[in-house]
Amino acid sequence: MRNKKVGLMGGTFNPIHNGHLIMAEYVYESYQLDKLLFIPTSISVHKKTSHISPKDRLEMTRLAIASNDHFEICMIDMERAEKTYTIDTIQSFRNKYSHTHFYFIIGADSALGLQNWKEAERLMKICRFIVVNRACYPSKELKNHIQYLKDQYNATIEYMKTPDIEISSSMIRERIGSNKSIKYMTPECVESYIHKHKLYYEMERKI
Ligand code: NAP
Repeated sequence: MRNKKVGLMGGTFNPIHNGHLIMAEYVYESYQLDKLLFIPTSISVHKKTSHISPKDRLEMTRLAIASNDHFEICMIDMERAEKTYTIDTIQSFRNKYSHTHFYFIIGADSALGLQNWKEAERLMKICRFIVVNRACYPSKELKNHIQYLKDQYNATIEYMKTPDIEISSSMIRERIGSNKSIKYMTPECVESYIHKHKLYYEMERKI
């Protein structure tokens, strides 16, 4: 029996949007994964999420993936009371599922700073990374950095081209704060949740 292949998509998801969902679906398909876990952070190590509760970020993520059979929510980072570091998340998975291959999916921004993550060297040894392009980063710069991580850390890290979807969580927050439409940027159920709970109506613009 072959080992299972599971994609991991960690994120603040503040809020989740179609860029996240499309990149996840592409990786799922291209790497023929068995499933893909969305792992919302509780307390992000590198981003402020003030005013928006982890419960709201979790609920929006849950709604966004509900219609996809091979996407699942994983609560591992949410259940931690302290900041979540990817090395701890991956180590927990490896301890529990020793025969599963894990693929951690990240965008360009994350990839360019990966060497600064906690226990980066060990992390890159025990986990395979898939880096998805973003239109705002020249792919040459990104590919060079990936090569640097391979050379320097012996990392198993691959670049994957997906459609450029220039939607970001900050763009959505800013648009809501300016009373602009976010239609078609995130699934309708997430949009409804945001408006029902008046999330990002004020103050979140600068985060
Ligand atoms: P996020 O903002 O919610 O985004 C999740 C991922 O989606 C990011 O890698 C992001 O790429 C990517 N993304 C967003 N919009 C995209 C688009 N339109 N096209 C392509 N990619 C897009 O999540 P985050 O707050 O950066 O966190 C990502 C994960 O990294 C989390 O699990 C977090 O715990 C982990 N992390 C760990 C450490 C550590 O252990 N020290 C440090 C930092 C992050 P970009 O990176 O390009 O925005």
